[in-house]
Amino acid sequence: MELSDRARAILDEARRAGANDVAWRQGRVFSLAYYAGPEVELVAEGAYAMYSSANGLNADAFPSLKKFQSEVVATVTNWVAGDAEAAGFMTSGGTESILMAVKASRERGRRERGITAPNAILPASAHAAFEKACYYFGVEARRVPVRSDWRADVDAMSGACDENTVLLVGSAPQYPQGVIDPIPEIAAVAARLDVNCHVDACMGGVTLAFLERLGESVAPWNLAVPGVTSISVDLHKYGYTAKGASVIVHRNRLLRSYQTFVTDNWLGGLYGSSGVLGTKSGGPMAAAWAVTKFLGDEGYTDLTRRARETCLRLADGIDRIDGLVVRARPDSTLLSFGADEREHPVDVYAVADVLATRGWYLDRQGPPPSLHCTVNASHAATVDEFLADLGEAVADVTSNHRRGGAGAYGTVD
Ligand SMILES: *Cc1c(COP(=O)(O)O)cnc(C)c1O
Repeated sequence: MELSDRARAILDEARRAGANDVAWRQGRVFSLAYYAGPEVELVAEGAYAMYSSANGLNADAFPSLKKFQSEVVATVTNWVAGDAEAAGFMTSGGTESILMAVKASRERGRRERGITAPNAILPASAHAAFEKACYYFGVEARRVPVRSDWRADVDAMSGACDENTVLLVGSAPQYPQGVIDPIPEIAAVAARLDVNCHVDACMGGVTLAFLERLGESVAPWNLAVPGVTSISVDLHKYGYTAKGASVIVHRNRLLRSYQTFVTDNWLGGLYGSSGVLGTKSGGPMAAAWAVTKFLGDEGYTDLTRRARETCLRLADGIDRIDGLVVRARPDSTLLSFGADEREHPVDVYAVADVLATRGWYLDRQGPPPSLHCTVNASHAATVDEFLADLGEAVADVTSNHRRGGAGAYGTVD
């Protein structure tokens, strides 16, 4: 329909409100947003708009959303080497997938072994969402320091387990330094104890699947590894779809049953839900279905190749800048870098401040103080300009003794 002046004015105002947002479509943002070009964005938006007010809470009323979920879960199950027994759900994002992995572990421990004071064994590198999940669900988070190569220390994890352990976690890759944990060894400890092992492939799930197809040797990371009981893959990251889409796949339906919630203990009838949300927008589900179908194996192979080549090129370029070191050679498309302590250490947060004045946005993290780059296909066009600016920023901070602040990955206001 033709929009009224009033409606058009409000939409204009909404558009103008974004004027100072980070320029994520232009390849200048190494965090938070992903871009595969205008057509992919239009496909996502179109499907999203069609189903934004449809409600995923009840698939009987919306067979469309049931179809989208089952086809998207099937696609992801194939990427993570799940077999015919595997069963999953779409969630609103990595955090909800991880909340559900922790909840399912707690529930399994309670029902199968009567555990009332459960704990989860987490490498120090495991995502903050596990901390949140443990806090929400009353599970003790046992953090275990990582090895000097930033990968999980499996002997130390094994040593931290006891009879109340319900979950061991590995990441593929972990967010902070972008390396893949030793998943087979972690899963073997979990299998020996007969408890859950969740692989957090929120970041890497799509990329690693297609790096394998591109012939790169990838460390074992998915349901092909015995002992892994569940895995999470975010589609609103390297699936390049609209925000609000992740998938959790369990090894079988019994393990998945510990995720769901059902009650009839109220006056409104039988109520079942698969995740945290009640009413659930169909928009992200429809967008994820449309984008995964539109891109297909060919699209994802191409996007993965571009992101991977760009990430390695970035790592090499950073290593060539005096005063900086890349923390670890990236196993996927994430890396972090910091000051080379053998030289006069540059304040990398001040480097991020200087880069921000040139329109670049990076995550600040620590310990140790580092900058983080999540490299996606859109950076292929900008990586050389970024490296030039990074070199100049380091020189500026060094010669002017600039200091910076640590910032935050997520905010509360
Ligand atoms: C992004 C991320 C998460 C959390 O996902 P959200 O979509 O931000 O909720 C969890 N684990 C890893 C490794 C991630 O990169």
